[in-house]
Order: sequence, then structure tokens, then C-alpha cells
Amino acid sequence: MKKINLGKTSLSVSICGFGVLPMGPAQLALPVPEGAAIIRHALDHGINFLDTAQYYRTYPYILEALAGGSYGDVVICSKSLASDYDGMMDAVLEARESLDRDVIDIFLMHEVRSGQLAERAGAWQALIDARKQGLVRAIGLSTHHVDVVRDAAEMEDLDVVFPLINYAGLGIRCGDRFATASEMMDAIRLCHDAGKGVFSMKAFGGGTLTTHYQEALDYVFDADCIDAVMIGFGKISDVDDILSYLDGTMAADYQPDVSAKKVHVNQEDCEGCGACKNACPAGAIYWNENGLASVDHDKCLTCGYCSPVCPVRAVIMY
Ligand code: SF4
Ligand code: SF4
Repeated sequence: MKKINLGKTSLSVSICGFGVLPMGPAQLALPVPEGAAIIRHALDHGINFLDTAQYYRTYPYILEALAGGSYGDVVICSKSLASDYDGMMDAVLEARESLDRDVIDIFLMHEVRSGQLAERAGAWQALIDARKQGLVRAIGLSTHHVDVVRDAAEMEDLDVVFPLINYAGLGIRCGDRFATASEMMDAIRLCHDAGKGVFSMKAFGGGTLTTHYQEALDYVFDADCIDAVMIGFGKISDVDDILSYLDGTMAADYQPDVSAKKVHVNQEDCEGCGACKNACPAGAIYWNENGLASVDHDKCLTCGYCSPVCPVRAVIMY
């Protein structure tokens, strides 16, 4: 698979990365050997860029996958929601220990929202220090927010940015409002032109755009300001689909079978705002015992109306 240098870093990554979240306890909860086999399958086919996070609890899958072969060129990105110095430094140290690596290739502030850069300044300083101490190679942030991506373009110390973008604009925010895909693309271009490495997330908008499979992939892979596209994989056939898309052997009318996928609310992200419940035409969303949204799969039509209205992308399909 084609590789590209991420911005001004010396990290050479495959243009398609492997998001490890779907196999973990928050989604499919695959047994570790099963998940590790999927990662190894991707590594064996040229995908060398892995994305994880402290909060995903997926380090064991990567550790086991890498123990099974010699994958010297693998690039691991992790991230933490920590907002203060000690929390972020602990997250870096935890990743080194859990992944059995002296240096983590990329470490990010996870999911930075509008206006949060100042309040997470301690965490950012920890990443700057971690890079100085040789604990990480490159630092940056992940975000769903256009204004944060614009700010990232001007952050001198920042090497990489990991923004959300898909052709439908699902989940893209700017301050308190929803924003468009073209606004985000413009912000990404600012980062790219400033020499930042850019890898994107949620090309399928959390799963709801999977029925427009090739259109969704064309949008991000054709963007010359996006270096690499991170795709979440939960089974080997998902990896094979991307490989065939990228090597040009995929039939023009190919659509993956998504009939077994269901709509879920990620309980760690849901803020209980009720927007999805109001948008649901089937009365399939209810308040669970924690006061958060849950989906009644006996009623759900998988129409997807709940997904675009969620301000935090908590509605996902897998
Ligand atoms: S997919 Fe449609 S039916 Fe299912 S919970 Fe969302 S809005 Fe309701
Ligand atoms: S729209 Fe999103 S944050 Fe709001 S209740 Fe629904 S799932 Fe939770």
C-alpha cells in the first residue's frame, strides 16, 4: 500500500490507517486473539498505521498482534482525554508500558472541543515535554470541531491533527453549531499548508454512510490535503474491502453487507440532550437507568435520522 510522510514528521504511514476502536470493549468486544488476528491481517497487507486511545482499552489487541511477527515499520497513534499535565503524562507512560514500546510514535489530546485548548494547556505542555524527553515522536490533537482545526494550523508545537470529516458533514461542529464538510475541508487545508500531518476519521460518519461506501471513501481519499484516512475495522472482510477499493479491483457497484449492523448509543459519549429521541420516527430511543439514550432494537428501523442530530457523535452503527 502507498505510504506517505505525515507532514514534517519522519513518520511514514500507509494512506489507510487501522482504527482499533471497533474491536474493543466499547463496541464488538472481540476476544484479544481474534482482534489481534485482524490487525495482523492488515499489517501483512501493508497497513502500518494503527490508531488507539487510552479510553478505548484496546492496547492488548495491538500488543498481541505485534508479538506475532516482525512489524518494524508500524506507526502507533494513541491519545488521552486528560486535561491536566499529570494526567497526560501518566497516559503516555501507560501507553508505553501497555504496548511494550519505549517510544509512542504519535500521542494526541483526544477529542478537543471548541474553547478547550486553554483549559487543556497543562495536558498540551505534558505532550511537548514527552516529545522533548523522547517518550513520543509526534504530538497533536483529535477533534470534531472546525475552529479547533483552524487553531491547530497555528500551533507551532503541533505536528499532526486528526479531524473528523465525511462527505455528508455528519458530526462536524464549530462552536455550538453544526458545521459543513467544506468548512472542515478548508480548515484541514490550513493545517496541511502549514506543514501539519493530517489523518482523518469517520469517513462513514460512525457507520451510517456505509451504504454509500465508495462515495464516502472517494471523498476523503481524493482530498489532497488529507495524508491518511483512519478506518475502523472489526473484521477481516472490512480490511479486504478497503484493500480492494484502494487497489482498484472493487466493482463499481459494490456495497458491503450491513444488514447485521445495528444502531447504538455510545454511553461514554452521550450527553443526554434528547436530540436523537426527538428525531426518531419510531420511538426507538429511550432513557436508560443512567439518564442517557439507548436504542430499542425491536423498534429501530435503522433509518439513521438520529445520527446527524447528535452533537457528540454518540450514535454509531456496528
Ligand atoms: S435509526 Fe431511526 S429508528 Fe433507529 S433509533 Fe435512530 S432514528 Fe430511531
Ligand atoms: S443526541 Fe447524542 S448526546 Fe444527545 S441524547 Fe442522543 S445520543 Fe445522547
